[in-house]
Order: sequence, then C-alpha cells, then structure tokens
Amino acid sequence: MAIETLSSAQSKAWKDRVLPPVENVAEGVWAIPVPIPNNPLVYTYCYGIADGSGLILIDPGWDGKDQYLALTSALGSLGFSVANVHGIAITHYHRDHIGLVPALLHKNPDMWVAMHGEDLRSIKRFFSQSVDLGTGVDPSINIARAYGVPEDRWSEVESLQVSKKDGSKKDKGGAGSKDDFALLMSSMPDTITILEDGSELPLESGALRALWTPGHTYGHSVFIRDEDQLLFSGDHVLPTITPNIGLDSGAITHSLGDYLGSLDKIGQLDAEVAVLPAHGFRFQGLHDRRRELVDHHQQRLDEITARMEATEDHSVYSIAQGLHWSRGFESLHNFNLFAALAETAAHMHYLDIEVGAGALVPQA
Ligand SMILES: [Zn+2]
Repeated sequence: MAIETLSSAQSKAWKDRVLPPVENVAEGVWAIPVPIPNNPLVYTYCYGIADGSGLILIDPGWDGKDQYLALTSALGSLGFSVANVHGIAITHYHRDHIGLVPALLHKNPDMWVAMHGEDLRSIKRFFSQSVDLGTGVDPSINIARAYGVPEDRWSEVESLQVSKKDGSKKDKGGAGSKDDFALLMSSMPDTITILEDGSELPLESGALRALWTPGHTYGHSVFIRDEDQLLFSGDHVLPTITPNIGLDSGAITHSLGDYLGSLDKIGQLDAEVAVLPAHGFRFQGLHDRRRELVDHHQQRLDEITARMEATEDHSVYSIAQGLHWSRGFESLHNFNLFAALAETAAHMHYLDIEVGAGALVPQA
C-alpha cells in the first residue's frame, strides 16, 4: 500500500519544486506555502485555522521580508490581517517553522504563542551557545573530533555552529545569517504558552489538541483536530522524505528511540486521518507511511551493524562512509555532511555503540 495524495495541486508543486497555491484544505483550514530561501524544501506550509472571528496559525515559516509578505498577502486574500491572528502554535523550533514568530508578534503583541517546553529549552540553550568559554573550543569542532572527522574537513562541519562573539566566524548559511536568527530568537516573548502531551490549544472556537512526538526535535509536537480527523504533522511524518533524526544539538542520546516511539504513538490515530505536513503535500495513509519510516530506520540499523563488522575504525565518520547515501558519501559537504554524521551517530547510539560523546570534554 502506498500513501494517497489529497491534493493534486500540492503534489504537482512538490514534484516541480515550486510554490503551490494557497488551498482551503478542510472546513476553516487553509494551507499557506511560505518560501524557504535557497532550500530544496522550497516552502513550509503554514496552516491557518479559523478561530471565532479570527484565526490561529500553525508554524508561520521562515523569517524574512518576502516570507512575511507571502504570509500576510495570503491572509489578506482570505479576508484576514495579522491583527486577526489570535495565536500561533509551533510544532518545533526550527527556523523554517518558527522564523516569522517575532515579526508577527511585533505587529500584534496580543497573540499567544504555544510550543512544547523542551523546544523552548532548546531555543534558549542553542542560541546562548557560542565558543565554550571554559575550553576555548568551538563546540562543533569538538563534535567533529569526537566523530573522527579528518582534520582537513573540520571546517566543513560548522553548519550548526553559532558565531563567535567577536564575529570572526563568517556565517555560511547563505540566506540570512544565523546571527540574525539568534537575535530574533532572543526576542521571543517570555510569555510562551507551554504545551504538554495532550494539551488543548486556547481556541475561541473548536478544539485542537497537542500530542508530544519527540524525535525530529525533542519537543516536537503534532496537532490533532478530532472532530474531522486532521493531523497537523509538522516534520514528524512527511509524505516523501525522511525527517532528519539526530540533528538536534545535544539530542543524539535519545532521538531515534524517541522518534520510533512517537511513530508508534500516532498509531492510535484513525487510519483515515488526513495528514497535513509542513513539507510536501497532504495525504492519506498514515499507517502505511509510518511503516515505511520504521522500515527505513531498521534498514539503516542493519547497515550500521554490517559496517561495524566490516571495519576496524568504528568512528562515526568511518561508519557513515560505509553507508548508502542517495548521492554518495563523497557528495556530502558542510551542512549535509554534518546532518549525515548526526544521523549516523543517532543510529549508532540506538544500537548502544559508543559515538565518541566521551570525547566531548575539554582538551588539556
Ligand atoms: Zn521543517
């Protein structure tokens, strides 16, 4: 069995990697594509959900002028403005989901913002991180060393690093610097509504409940509208790509086991549920998709076990070198290399294999 698309327009746009149209996807629910600059995902779906006289948003998308314009003009075409947004629910703290929150709040300080406490903690931890003052060692370089990355490639594994305070490190993100984003995140309000597993969102009308689905990030949550079987799945379940597991800084030690547990958890949902993901297209066939994702990770685990037996060098880098990557290990650079290593490490940790985390200590 395969999944079944619920929108030919969305499927076609995903295939062509262009922006799909704004679509009314259920009673009082609209999918609004917000572009992600220079990224193969092309866009994030922000979902607008009618709430009394206004609406709420799930994941407003990447920050930037074009993004803000894309979102607000879509709202305008639906008869709403930012002043009508009662609140924002966040599936997880990645920039392509949360980026526009500060700008929207700036325009309308009355709206609530709700997210899981673990992701709020991650924001605070991640964006206060810089050079480890105790050791003078950049944390990402420490990771590169622990994973057995050859020294001449250390500079590539900088993707998740936050710039040094003196600004001497250049940002390589391409679209908008990480410093800008860090600054934005430091302006997140202190009054965030903390979601727990099963929390109801503070709506004026209708009901949406949060389900904690740790894995892609530790605080990842999905939202469920029970009355008509809608699942706003964030990046937990996507139709055609496998969400990266293990990228979350500091989360390698629990990510894959959590993710598989969270796939299991949404097994309680109805087979007919409409899955409204943050990327790709909406679809039906949640349980088939869950099985595909579990199979994918099981294959990875088998591959790693075989590679462990085939080689003496059990560093994360060496194991990753021996795995199958869609465009080959040699084609992985910078962020993609980092993501591949993090994914490998998460799988190795799940198998109780030492991933060199013990080396993440100050060098004398
Ligand atoms: Zn995403």
